[in-house]
Amino acid sequence: MTETLDEAVQAADGRALPQPYSYRQTPLVEPDWRRFPGWADVTDEEWRSAQWQRSHCVKNVAQLRGVLGDLVDERFYADLEADIAQAATMSMLLPPQMLNTMAPSVPAEGAGSLTEAFYADAVRLYMLPVLSDRRVQWTSHPHATRDSLHEHEMWAVEGLTHRYPTKVLAELLPTCPQYCGHCTRMDLVGNSTPQVDKLKFVAKPDARLTEMLDYLRRSPGVRDVVVSGGDVANLPWPRLESFVAALLEIDNIKDIRLASKALMGLPQHWLQDEVREGMARLAGVARERGVGLAIHTHVNAAQSVTPLVAEAARAMFEAGVRDVRNQGVLMRGINDSVEKLLDLSFALLDGAGIMPYYFYMCDMIPGAEHWRLSVWEAQALQHGIMGYLPGFATPRIVCDVPYVGKRWVHQVHEYDRERGISYWTKNYRTGIETADSEALSRTYEYYDPIYTLPAAGQDWWTRHAADAAVHADPSRGVHS
Ligand code: SF4
Repeated sequence: MTETLDEAVQAADGRALPQPYSYRQTPLVEPDWRRFPGWADVTDEEWRSAQWQRSHCVKNVAQLRGVLGDLVDERFYADLEADIAQAATMSMLLPPQMLNTMAPSVPAEGAGSLTEAFYADAVRLYMLPVLSDRRVQWTSHPHATRDSLHEHEMWAVEGLTHRYPTKVLAELLPTCPQYCGHCTRMDLVGNSTPQVDKLKFVAKPDARLTEMLDYLRRSPGVRDVVVSGGDVANLPWPRLESFVAALLEIDNIKDIRLASKALMGLPQHWLQDEVREGMARLAGVARERGVGLAIHTHVNAAQSVTPLVAEAARAMFEAGVRDVRNQGVLMRGINDSVEKLLDLSFALLDGAGIMPYYFYMCDMIPGAEHWRLSVWEAQALQHGIMGYLPGFATPRIVCDVPYVGKRWVHQVHEYDRERGISYWTKNYRTGIETADSEALSRTYEYYDPIYTLPAAGQDWWTRHAADAAVHADPSRGVHS
């Protein structure tokens, strides 16, 4: 009789060894928002309303206090106020849907009972950063810059980044329904903070969108448009629909991806009749013309995948979009273990039909060092998550290397572990290198967080940090 693999393992040593990760099906949960005093009387109907969600977003400490009351203590509120005043690169904006996923399984039992759960919570850690989260030394890497991917330098027309040969990023608007503390577009997106005066688009919105479309009509080499911002959920639907409809009329465009974290942060938006019907119209045209119309969302923690998020994803599939994919960001304390990454990936795939597509390493923006991981840590995580998910749904962990673009973390060309400097190469010219004969032969650098380096590497950076900071961002640093 043929023995199974499990039987063979047991026969070998008398017991089955545990796998490093145990797969289990976990039902999605919508936490009860009525556990928060400020929402004790909010009805199901109100909660499902996109208008109610938008008009009850939390934008400041007073409004947060109005929801949570004394379930978190004064220490937390003071810590949050200190971060806003001294460090935050993004202003506060939390739809109730997102706030409700913080500390989802801790009973609210009276004054202060949620304080520690809030401090430790994965969603809180990146959506509601407090000053004590951040590192005191090496708060920012000396090479951190406001536009760390140099997207503005690569604008072909205002807001249209042409970095890769065949694809472009169209930043339609600079706002989102939610603001993430680690936003890589912190230079442009959201309201100014005490630390950061945001860049403003110069041209009027309609004129910018017209210029983008004109550029794409005269660029037959471009086949793929990421329609982003900001978040497209903040564009009035008729304007988004007319932009995408115009893209669908350009013969060379074969893939259109709509970027919306709101599919998770404000799923109520994507469940509105106007949006569902409009997506069905666009998806019908896309199908006729052989264009892949997909939604890309941004989920970083398994608890964010609630039944409402799954419902919104299903609504988009029913409307006819080809796929809903997730592009999360790898961050310390939030999703920095094999278990957390796989739990999230299975919640997305099994629970909501969302494809776990990418995890980006957190970009080198100011104030992000406590979130960022080293390349070697990302490589270990990529190794650890292989083999559990179907191959097509195994997320790739990528490093978005300045002036290069996305590289799988194992594609590093050289790596100085002592100084935490990785060197990367590329095989195409960006839009600003058309006459650069060395663009494909030079190496490009990415930097590990300094506090993760051995002592000799930290000493080296202590001696060289000032030079590096000037070199990185001579004219546009965050206010000191
Ligand atoms: S949703 Fe995306 S663009 Fe908006 S703040 Fe978050 S990371 Fe930035």
